[in-house]
Amino acid sequence: MQFDLQRARYETPGCKFVKHFNNAGSSLISQPVLEAIISHLQLEAQLGGYEATNQAEGAVEHVYDAAAALLNCSRDEIAFAENATRAWDMLFYSVPLRPGDRILTSISEYGSNYLAFLHLMKRMGITIAPIPNDEYGQTSVDALKNMLDERVKLIAITYVPTNGGLVNQVAAIGKVAREAGILYLVDACQAVGQMPVDVQAIGCDLLATTGRKYLRGPRGTGFLYVRRSVLEQLTPPFIELHTARWLAPDRYQLRQDARRFESWEINYAGKIGLGVAIDYAMQWSLEAIWQRVQLLAERLRSQLSEIAGVTVHDLGRVRCGIVTFTLAGMSPAEIKQHLAQHKMNVTVTRQEATLLDMTARGLDNMVRASVHYYNSEEEIDALCEVVARLKTKQL
Ligand SMILES: *Cc1c(COP(=O)(O)O)cnc(C)c1O
Repeated sequence: MQFDLQRARYETPGCKFVKHFNNAGSSLISQPVLEAIISHLQLEAQLGGYEATNQAEGAVEHVYDAAAALLNCSRDEIAFAENATRAWDMLFYSVPLRPGDRILTSISEYGSNYLAFLHLMKRMGITIAPIPNDEYGQTSVDALKNMLDERVKLIAITYVPTNGGLVNQVAAIGKVAREAGILYLVDACQAVGQMPVDVQAIGCDLLATTGRKYLRGPRGTGFLYVRRSVLEQLTPPFIELHTARWLAPDRYQLRQDARRFESWEINYAGKIGLGVAIDYAMQWSLEAIWQRVQLLAERLRSQLSEIAGVTVHDLGRVRCGIVTFTLAGMSPAEIKQHLAQHKMNVTVTRQEATLLDMTARGLDNMVRASVHYYNSEEEIDALCEVVARLKTKQL
């Protein structure tokens, strides 16, 4: 089936202004998302904030149905959050862990997640064990099996790391976790919106993601999934009037759905916009998006690797829309700056964001060019031409 690129670009106002290769940072939002956000802000200005929320209740509540359809779960297993980190934190800090308990995680786990592990290591004496990679650079499923014992209380895996094309085998890991009866938490921040993500197929108990990356939602939005059967094991690190009922001076009751992890006060325009972004992605079909993203990323990788001095660093057997590279003799920051002069957005992925992986590979930082389905083949060719000329300038 032909991908309607013209329509994708027409419905993305930013395409007129920039060549955007920072979709792993924050994608360009679509016209319907932009309109939904603006119209809710207008409603707030005209009616008052609370009154606007009441009037827009259908659109606000729709987020749960949209997210449930996207992830293949039910709406009461979804909670809204202000970003992926908070969503992930709410899940992680709810897991009943005790001194000596062990967390198994991926080498390319996201920095903020790893900091949370270290935080609990310091505060309560849990232990952390990174699972070695297989020969493709993926979290090794066999190594994971060999690391299981009665101390392991959580398996926490990053689906797609922030620093490259790697796609971890989250479903194979889920099978191991289920057989061992161990809680399984997936950071799907870079996966959701880029590829089909199905929590039943993955077999995870917990999953967190963001709105602004491949889903093309507003900034300041995220959401989480919690499997209904594990909800009762999880104690939120903090509660409030929205998440618990104050029944008597000495008594309260937690909400009985995933929303026990939410905050009462949030950005409603963003929440509505997120629902629209999810609908919009599903209307393109995640299968079609995933196919096109892979096609574009492979085009970028193959052209970049033909440029003298360029090294492409992406790991994995299946590789996604995140492309990372370095150029001999020029720092990633300088490359980013040069590209910006041509109105091309890339970013620099820093060692600290995925410290274990970067130090193991002897990498300091890299240019990250992340493509989305609305990027054109011409944009990719143009990016490579600029990079090739940079090299010439250096010599
Ligand atoms: C960006 C990112 C996060 C954090 O998401 P926020 O929405 O910025 O909190 C977590 N994990 C991965 C893999 C990421 O790339």
